[in-house]
Amino acid sequence: MKLTSFGASEGVTGSCHLLEVNNSKILIDCGTFQGGKEERDKNDEPFGFDPSTIDHLIVSHAHIDHIGRVPLLRKRGFRGQIHSTRPSYELARLSLLDSANLIARSTQWKNKKRKEAGEPLLQPLYDEEDVLDVIEQWAHNQIKYGEKLNICEGVDLTIKDAGHILGSGFLSFDLKEGKESRKFIFSGDLGNIDKPIICDPTTPEEADFVLMESTYGDRDHVPFSQSISDLETAVLETFERGGNCVIPTFALERAQELLYVLHEMWKDGKLPDDVKIFLDSPMAISATRIFENHRDFYDKHAHALLEKGGNPFQFPPLTYTRATRDSISINDVQKNAIILAGSGMCTGGRVIHHLKHNLTRKECGVIFIGYQARNTAGRKILRGDKFVTLYGESIPTNSEVYVVNGFSGHAGRKELTSWANSTKSNNIFVVHGEPDTKIEFTKHLKSHTNASNIKVMPHAKAIDLLSL
Ligand SMILES: [Zn+2]
Repeated sequence: MKLTSFGASEGVTGSCHLLEVNNSKILIDCGTFQGGKEERDKNDEPFGFDPSTIDHLIVSHAHIDHIGRVPLLRKRGFRGQIHSTRPSYELARLSLLDSANLIARSTQWKNKKRKEAGEPLLQPLYDEEDVLDVIEQWAHNQIKYGEKLNICEGVDLTIKDAGHILGSGFLSFDLKEGKESRKFIFSGDLGNIDKPIICDPTTPEEADFVLMESTYGDRDHVPFSQSISDLETAVLETFERGGNCVIPTFALERAQELLYVLHEMWKDGKLPDDVKIFLDSPMAISATRIFENHRDFYDKHAHALLEKGGNPFQFPPLTYTRATRDSISINDVQKNAIILAGSGMCTGGRVIHHLKHNLTRKECGVIFIGYQARNTAGRKILRGDKFVTLYGESIPTNSEVYVVNGFSGHAGRKELTSWANSTKSNNIFVVHGEPDTKIEFTKHLKSHTNASNIKVMPHAKAIDLLSL
């Protein structure tokens, strides 16, 4: 009975853990390494195990750092079963097709340079066909929250709501080898409390061994009510100046949460009568359709709203602009528009066009609600650069810039600690965090839980669960 981490153990991304029980091999997540070149280069490297020997893959949720290498796993020989919740499967289909498209474009660009330099051409990591093949393989095994499933000899799996994104789960395993049994819980990514639409994370049961994330293990979040009021201020101030709001938005979860909050503001009569809200991202529109089809995953507030006839995804000022011509027509609106468009860090996509049109106008407002990584246009605007280069053109940044914190999809330190305490586990191993954060969080757990064996999960080194 062994557990080995092959990803998210050295950094935050590339979640991938191998559980071996009896003679079965169960892989937990198979995500993309994201970040700088050094991290991205890891995606092409061998997995550290033979994909053709994996019997089952279990997916905690549909973020690309948890699913991004699943098509590659199949391409390299994996033919086992894939288990997840239904929304995870549907969102994964969307994200992986998008990922194949991004890989194709980036390979094409690199090969253009290589051809000029007379270097051998690269093959894409995977393509659309690989994605469609793996999606077909995935279509058969969807699990409901709380349903215990025997997936192979000595391995029972239960997925419980992690409150992170639609369909996200933490994975609870009842393991048996001979006369020995162990309870193992993998946290996946745990959500923040009081988030719109989805439920708060479920309280975990007692466990012998816990592998948990630590993304925000070194800090606490501002309460979500504060975030809503900050967003309201940013929008209303911008409208008072006679401008538009541009919100660079991540397509999955963040866009839907924003629509929910904007619907609340509109319903409460806080927005002007002629307000227009645009969701200008084909991927976010498709993700929203998936949200609409899975109302059984909503929390009680979202259910109460629907019962009263409200709908955060269909209300008068909201327009979905999937077609390019509809997106372009937003340029004609000079004031009282809220434009949600990707990418979330202004690294490409339709938000660039909206920034070009609105950044130059001092009456407009750019509202950042998500993390802006180093060297992105988003970070440059955020830190107050006077000009920013967008699609090769230098654009003056005259508009107001607002930052709204607290929309994070991850639990803060307080919630992570309380979740860990509920497991009453004596063995807590930490993954999925920056190296310093992981160390900081293990220190915090040592003084705030009764567990005596708290460690950073080692990379590619098996932990014998029976020895604990
Ligand atoms: Zn995630």
